[in-house]
Amino acid sequence: MGSLDSHYEEENSSSNTANPLNPEEFRRQGHMIIDFIADYYQNMEKYPVLSQVQPGYLAKLLPKSAPNIPEPIETILHDIQQYIIPGITHWQSPNYFAYFPATSSIAGFLGEVLSTGFNVVVFNWISSPAATELEFVTMDWLGQMLGLPQSFLFSGVGGGVIQGTTCEAILCTLVAARDQMLAKVGRENIGKLVFYGSDQTHCALLKAAKVAGLESFLCATIGTTSTTAVDPIRSLSEVTKEYGMWIHVDAAYAGSACICPEYRHFIDGVENVNSFSFNAHKWFFTTLDCCCLWVKDPGALTKSLSTSAEYLKNNASDSKQVVDYKDWQITLSRRFRSMKLWLVLRSYGVENLRNFLRSHVKMAKRFQQLVESDNRFEVVVPRNFAMVCFRALPTRLKKEPNGCNIESGNIEAKLIDQEYANDFNRNLLETMNASGKVFMTHTIVEGIYVIRFAVGATLTEDKHVIKAWEVVQETVDDMLATK
Ligand SMILES: *Cc1c(COP(=O)(O)O)cnc(C)c1O
Repeated sequence: MGSLDSHYEEENSSSNTANPLNPEEFRRQGHMIIDFIADYYQNMEKYPVLSQVQPGYLAKLLPKSAPNIPEPIETILHDIQQYIIPGITHWQSPNYFAYFPATSSIAGFLGEVLSTGFNVVVFNWISSPAATELEFVTMDWLGQMLGLPQSFLFSGVGGGVIQGTTCEAILCTLVAARDQMLAKVGRENIGKLVFYGSDQTHCALLKAAKVAGLESFLCATIGTTSTTAVDPIRSLSEVTKEYGMWIHVDAAYAGSACICPEYRHFIDGVENVNSFSFNAHKWFFTTLDCCCLWVKDPGALTKSLSTSAEYLKNNASDSKQVVDYKDWQITLSRRFRSMKLWLVLRSYGVENLRNFLRSHVKMAKRFQQLVESDNRFEVVVPRNFAMVCFRALPTRLKKEPNGCNIESGNIEAKLIDQEYANDFNRNLLETMNASGKVFMTHTIVEGIYVIRFAVGATLTEDKHVIKAWEVVQETVDDMLATK
């Protein structure tokens, strides 16, 4: 009966390799995972928002190598509860106010499940026509919701594409802009190209410029990452027009808000720009990753990014009647991301989506009022959306810290005072985050250390915002008491 080896292999393959896509087993395990996540959402507030583990904690807890024999899902879920959850920073916690939100929803989650269920690889139209065409439909719907002009939509001459992240969206438009300009001025002038942003532009621009080489390109931001400041698109676009320069609008966070008529004015002038993007995976109930990018001239993108290979050739592509999204992005393979966006749009509807966003803004306003009502604190920059930048004012907490006073007019004294204030606020933030009760993050604006309070987790309610403010006040009280 053959050698020992082949006998062993035969036996192993017959007994242990159940079909990894057995529908009944999928049903059983799928229900368990959904229950697990539902319990996780229900019990979320029991966990510290910011993970409290130390670097390297996990390798100590897990085996040194992968298991040789299959393990049941029950054991794996047990280990997730035991070992993984402590190392999770809970972005969906109602007490999460850090960075920007990653607003989840049932529709976003289940849309993700559906697209993963199909697991199609959508590089060209023929590889799954519905995936490409659903992307057209949802991007046009969303473009209309934002009041983008016809020139950005498929129903006009432009078009939208779902990228993974803003970094990718900026890189793609940067490369298109570079090649458009080089076609005008000649390849030999590549060294003379420049790109513009402000000191508040996201570092994604620098990264993209590094990958692509310098560009004739301007990146304007609606809702900067540090403080949600807004660049004036209309006046910037007048300058870029004069120089034939590509202008991209990065509205990664704040773009969502512009579906509300009262915030639409922030993107006035968008009809004059070349491209516009926002992250549906930030503040739009869609799971990571889902960056929506519209361009007026899709041909500029495809000129720079298209590839052709014999093994991808097909009649539909040759007919030029279809869009092959592989030519609108960096990667070749792409996920069926429009499914989750479509589910979000259909499950909630435009008016509800607006109201969700408004409720977050309202909670941020509430927090702002609380800050303003306590003269030991200040709001550092004007609030535009659902994020409040604030700090404690140690000069008011303590009459003369380090013997100096900000009112003294002495520049040196002012600098020492600033340093003292920055240290105080850094300590305040670290103490609050270490408590596990809330998670906020910081930025530095013109030398001032600022605490950012970003509302947008789907489970957050008024009471969480009020509790967060109490945590701020109590921490400051404690810090002063122990001075
Ligand atoms: C978050 C953010 C980005 C980066 O987005 P990714 O999708 O992570 O690349 C870029 N710009 C702004 C203004 C942002 O807020």
